[in-house]
Amino acid sequence: MAQRLFGTNGVRGIINEDMTSDLALQMGKAIGTVMGGTVAIATDTRLSADMIKMAVSAGIMSVGVSVVDLGILPTPAIQYYVKTHDNVTGGVMITASHNPPQFNGIKCISADGTEASRVEEENIEERYSKEIPCVAWNQVGDMCRMSGAGEEYVDAIVSKVDSESIRKAGLTACLDCANGAAYETAPLLLKKLGVRTITINCNPQGEFPGHPSEPTEENLRDLLSLTKATGSAIGIAHDGDADRCVFITGDGEFVSGDKSLALISKYVLSKKKGLVVTPVSSSSLVEEVVKESGGTINYTAVGSPVVARKMIETGAVFGGEENGGLIFPEQQYCRDGGMTVAKMLECIVAEGPLKDQIAKLPVYYTVKRKIECPNDAKKHVLEYIAEASAGAKIDNTDGTKIIFDDGWILARPSGTEPAFRIYSESKDEKVAEERADKYEKLVREYLNQ
Ligand code: MG
Repeated sequence: MAQRLFGTNGVRGIINEDMTSDLALQMGKAIGTVMGGTVAIATDTRLSADMIKMAVSAGIMSVGVSVVDLGILPTPAIQYYVKTHDNVTGGVMITASHNPPQFNGIKCISADGTEASRVEEENIEERYSKEIPCVAWNQVGDMCRMSGAGEEYVDAIVSKVDSESIRKAGLTACLDCANGAAYETAPLLLKKLGVRTITINCNPQGEFPGHPSEPTEENLRDLLSLTKATGSAIGIAHDGDADRCVFITGDGEFVSGDKSLALISKYVLSKKKGLVVTPVSSSSLVEEVVKESGGTINYTAVGSPVVARKMIETGAVFGGEENGGLIFPEQQYCRDGGMTVAKMLECIVAEGPLKDQIAKLPVYYTVKRKIECPNDAKKHVLEYIAEASAGAKIDNTDGTKIIFDDGWILARPSGTEPAFRIYSESKDEKVAEERADKYEKLVREYLNQ
């Protein structure tokens, strides 16, 4: 079997160390051979975006496949483009999402706009590992630049929500794009929805100087205080490639991804009953709210492609992850940051201020820990934890989830980083902390021995 290159979210690495133009060129040749036809390509705002894009594109064209360059776009915008343009056989997004600026990555998109399946990725890995023949000079692919894909994406979102009511509400929002891929589409979307918008970190700067591009409470201090100080209805923050989105209440309170997932689940289920799909790492808050709202919850392994595919299989009404990556079947089967913004605005207009809606949600305490762990030790750490938890009620959907009467703990290796993750949840904050401490200690114990 060929070497595994793709992680949970594409191939990622540090520029000119493990993510090089040589790798990108060979990846391009492999991708072109597998996808054929015409491949769309887009990037986020990283300094290395053009270097990797050019190398991947050169590889694609050298095997006789054409490239449509869409410029800088959120990941869901290129996915929407691939889905809705029949002449396009697949897509490549150059991004490392929320990773620090020294990283970049290559993510493949299937012809239907979904993230490439593991089988498709294995196909590409298989080609990558071999010498790939180039075509004759007169069969080389060409490249055309296309503008307007961002606006097509925005217009599609506007058409799929109650934009009339949102416009009438005359809302004000604060927006933070982490100087990433949504710097143009996110303000445009809010403008088309009639929302007065105050922006910060909406400049496409390759070194992300605003703040690190993972939308955590820590990194969003400026947005928190700005939202409160301006009396805005909501604060909105995207990650680097804007497939995800988190919110701030008008009081400047950070709303975790679990809470927005629960809230939008409730809103979606109030219109249409059905299945909500989410990974085992999501808070029980989501399950409780889904059941209360007359829906059914379906758990999967962690990773948005798995959630999306399960949603297609089951005809689910909604789905998403605890990190703010929500999937709306009426738009497309992938995490969609722009759609999340529009739906949340619709939800506020229909159901009342965000802070009031959050206050009504059941309270769970979730403690998340990330422990550095070499990739080759991950499997052994997992075995060590499973042994230490023998006799307990265990769910093996992904990693090891140990279920207690008053909560659960999930221990799983990260799919994107050399790290191990511990999630601990309980209705009692102290219990959640204590259990997280205990399992973090177990991981460290193994790594130190
Ligand atoms: Mg992302």
